[in-house]
Amino acid sequence: MKILSVNAGSSSLKFQMYEMPEEKALISGNFERIGIHNSFYTIKINGEKIKKEMDLPNHKVAFETLVKELEENKVVDSLEEISGIGHRVVQGGAYFDKTVVIDDDVIAKIEELNVLAPLHNPAAITGIKAAMEVIPNAVQTAVFDTAFHQTMPEENYIYAVPYEWYTDYKVRRYGAHGTSHMYVANRMNEILGRTDTKLITCHLGNGASVSAVVNGKCVNTSMGLTPNAGLIMGSRCGDMDATVVTYMMDQLKVSPAEMDILLNKKSGLLGVTNLSSDMRDIDAGVLEGNERCELVKRMFVNRVVEYIAKYYVEMNGCDAIVFTAGIGENSITTRRRIVNKLGVLGIYLDEEANDSRGEEKLITTADSKIPCYVIPTDEELMIDRDTYSLAK
Ligand code: AMP
Repeated sequence: MKILSVNAGSSSLKFQMYEMPEEKALISGNFERIGIHNSFYTIKINGEKIKKEMDLPNHKVAFETLVKELEENKVVDSLEEISGIGHRVVQGGAYFDKTVVIDDDVIAKIEELNVLAPLHNPAAITGIKAAMEVIPNAVQTAVFDTAFHQTMPEENYIYAVPYEWYTDYKVRRYGAHGTSHMYVANRMNEILGRTDTKLITCHLGNGASVSAVVNGKCVNTSMGLTPNAGLIMGSRCGDMDATVVTYMMDQLKVSPAEMDILLNKKSGLLGVTNLSSDMRDIDAGVLEGNERCELVKRMFVNRVVEYIAKYYVEMNGCDAIVFTAGIGENSITTRRRIVNKLGVLGIYLDEEANDSRGEEKLITTADSKIPCYVIPTDEELMIDRDTYSLAK
């Protein structure tokens, strides 16, 4: 059975197709600059990467092109072979605690939540509608970034603001990266050989978040109403005194929309260094003696350590800590700095094991009280697994 996972952005469309239940990756790729001039797409198949330039006026044309490529590359003989399509949706609010088959009601609810994810949810809807038009026979599912976090207890998701903000405006913590946290937590439990575990999962990418996971269920997470809370990120500020926002809006005479851009696109690693939002550039800057890079690196590390300490106490212990996503999987120096601050918990880095990138690996010494693992995330596979279970 062939299952396609789709991640639609406002001008992009990432996809990956698996043969299920074997979980064999068949083809993947990305359509970019949809609706903008100079659009193109890339495809990875049989270890080869192909790039083609073509006019992509909308997501429907991207899907039609995708179908053509699937047929030309003999991944499928006909459209009927695609049994399920799983769509990544950033914000599912309190409506969805798991992956669901898409119908009119699901689409209406995702649209209702556009206000909470104005950049992401409308793009997902565009992708869903285009897929339904081009591949109508497939079971279409919505896989929500927020769903995994719906098991949090009330005390961890209600903000200490007027309660009506929650009841009337849906203001609460929803979390993000749920598909990734769930994937690595499940994999960690497989490695540990049991499910009655307390885990801290650190998704450290351009966007970054930490989750506390007890018996496979999320009990707390660092992201909030939107994906700009908790950790310091590439260009997002994460946690800070809320009054900074109103004070600086007054000082700079900027609107809420302009402030949103400053906090989401001009802050984080980029804001502090005025250099880059990419940890590779920050790491290079540190080596060159750039003081701001060194400063933001210490800030980034401290924030991760704060959350690990918080969740360790909150869960009354921890069986394993997981690092994943771009920085978690690849930044040797970031992991080293984080783990070297955890000695008080009896956690010690194995320098040699940590000297690796993108590999599943135990990176702490055998005498560490809590093991730390690198587990590469695979959100697409998670989407495909969920979709397969609903489509079979
Ligand atoms: P993601 O959002 O998961 O794709 O992660 C993207 C981030 O991972 C980039 O912004 C980089 O900062 C970081 N990253 C990827 N490779 C490396 C590397 N080799 N060393 C340090 N950071 C890396």
